[in-house]
Amino acid sequence: MILWLVETYFATPRLGRLQHAATNLALAALNGGLLFFSVGLLSVYVCSVSSAEPFGLVRVVLSFLALDLFSYLWHRANHRFALLWRFHAVHHSDSAMDVTTAGRFHVVELGIAGIVRLPLLYLLGVSTTALLIYETALVMVSMMHHSTIALGRFDRIARTFFVTPSIHSVHHSRDSDLYACNYSSVLSVWDRLFRTFHLTRGPVQHGLDTHNDRKSVRSLLASPFHNDHNRGEQ
Ligand SMILES: [Zn+2]
Ligand SMILES: [Zn+2]
Repeated sequence: MILWLVETYFATPRLGRLQHAATNLALAALNGGLLFFSVGLLSVYVCSVSSAEPFGLVRVVLSFLALDLFSYLWHRANHRFALLWRFHAVHHSDSAMDVTTAGRFHVVELGIAGIVRLPLLYLLGVSTTALLIYETALVMVSMMHHSTIALGRFDRIARTFFVTPSIHSVHHSRDSDLYACNYSSVLSVWDRLFRTFHLTRGPVQHGLDTHNDRKSVRSLLASPFHNDHNRGEQ
C-alpha cells in the first residue's frame, strides 16, 4: 500500500492507476483464496511429513537456495513452452507495471507451479518454517522489484544479491530480446550463473506487442484460451 502511494505520487499520468490496481489486486486476491486452500495447504502438509526437524539454520538456507533455483527454472520454462507462456503472458501483458503487477498472475500458472514443486519439497525435506520464510521473502522482493521506485545508488549494492527494479524492469520489456533474460525471483545469482543477466540504460517500455493490456479480471483469466498469441522465449 505504501509503495503504491509513493508510486502514485511520482506517476504521470495518475489517471487509471486505481482501476489498474483494482484489477491486479482482485486477481491476486482470487489467487490467494484459491491457492491457499489447495496447493498451499498441500505444500505445508508435504513439508510437515517430509521434515522431522522443525528448524535448522543450515537446512533453512539450503532450502531457500533450492526453492529460489526452482523459481528461476520454472520461470524459464514459462517462457520456453508455448502452453505455459499463454498463462505467464497475463503477467507480462501489464503495460503499466508497478507494485501491483507482483500479484498479477493467472491462477493456472501458480497452481501448476505449486503442484510441480510438491515432489521437490518432499525429496529435499524442506521444513514448514523454511517454506514460510521463502514464500514471505518471495512476496516482499517481488513487490519491491515490480515497483517503479528507483533505488538510486542503493540499487547497485542491492542487485548484487537481490532482484531489484532495474533488473526486473528489463524482463518486462516489450523487446523480445530483453524479456528473454533476468528470470530470477529473489536472488540475482541465478541469472549470473546461467548467463541470462542483462541490464540496460534508459527507460524500458513494458507490456507485450502480441497482447492487449486487458483491463478486467474476467478478460485476463480468459486470455490464455484465445488463439491470437503464443509467443514465448525466442
Ligand atoms: Zn517472465
Ligand atoms: Zn514480473
